[in-house]
Amino acid sequence: MLQIEDLWVTIEDKEVLKGINLEIQAGETHTLFGKNGSGKSTLLMTLMGFARYKVVQGQILFKGTDITQMPTHERARLGLGLAFQRPPTIRGVKTRDLLQVCSGKGRQAAEALAFDYDFEGFLEREINYGFSGGEIKKSELLQLLAQDPALVLLDEPESGVDLENLQMVGEIIRRLLQKERRRVDRDKSGLIITHTGFILNYLNADKGHVMCDGQIACHGIPREILEHIKEQGYEECVRCLTTPK
Ligand code: ADP
Ligand code: MG
Repeated sequence: MLQIEDLWVTIEDKEVLKGINLEIQAGETHTLFGKNGSGKSTLLMTLMGFARYKVVQGQILFKGTDITQMPTHERARLGLGLAFQRPPTIRGVKTRDLLQVCSGKGRQAAEALAFDYDFEGFLEREINYGFSGGEIKKSELLQLLAQDPALVLLDEPESGVDLENLQMVGEIIRRLLQKERRRVDRDKSGLIITHTGFILNYLNADKGHVMCDGQIACHGIPREILEHIKEQGYEECVRCLTTPK
C-alpha cells in the first residue's frame, strides 16, 4: 500500500525529516509515536503532498505508483486521506457541502453519515466555526468516512476529545479501517499518530514506530512501545539512535 524510501524533507529550508523508511501493507494499521516536534505531522503532511513540505531526497510509492511529486488533489483521488491535527476553520462553506464533496455522492449520503454519528445539527454550520475541540475532530473523521480512502492518515485523532466522545472516535476509526472484517478481507491501511495510545483500546495495530528528531528510532509492537514510553519517556529512543550500531 505504502512504501517510503529514504525520505528527506525540509520546511522553509529547515531539515525536518532525515531519511525515513517505512512500509505499510494492505490491511495493516501502524501507529506512530514520538515527542513533540519530532516530525510526525510533517511526515503525514508530506504524504499528502502539501506545498510547504519539500522532498529533497527519497521517494514515496502508493500502490506501486511514485507519488513523490504528485499534487495533493491527485493523491486524494488515488486514495490517500488525512485527518489533520489542527484542522482550519473555513468561513462561508457549510459542513454539509464539504461532506458531500468528500463523498462524491449526493446530499443523502452526507446526511446518512451525519445521522449515524449524531452530527445532523452541524451540517448547516460553517466548517469548524465555533466547534469545540471534540466536534472538530468528529467532523474531520466524518469527512474521511465520506471520502473512504484506502490509506487513512490520522494525526492525533484523540486530542481535544472528551472521554464520552472518545468511544465514538474509536468506532469511526474502526469503520474507516474495516476492523469489523476478517484481516484477510481488509484492504484499508492506516497510519495513526497518537500520544496517548488511546486508539489501541479500540483496535489492534499491527506495528508501531517511534519518531525521534526526524528519524524513525525503532519499530515494534505498539502496546509494548507505549508501555516503554510511559515508563521511560523518549530518552531511551534518543540513546538508541545516538549509539553507534
Ligand atoms: P510533531 O508532529 O512530531 O510534533 P512537526 O512535524 O509538527 O512535529 O514539526 C517538526 C519540526 O518542524 C518542529 O521543529 C517544527 O517546529 C518544525 N516546523 C513545522 N512546521 C514548520 C513551519 N511551517 N516552519 C518552520 N518550521 C516548522
Ligand atoms: Mg504533530
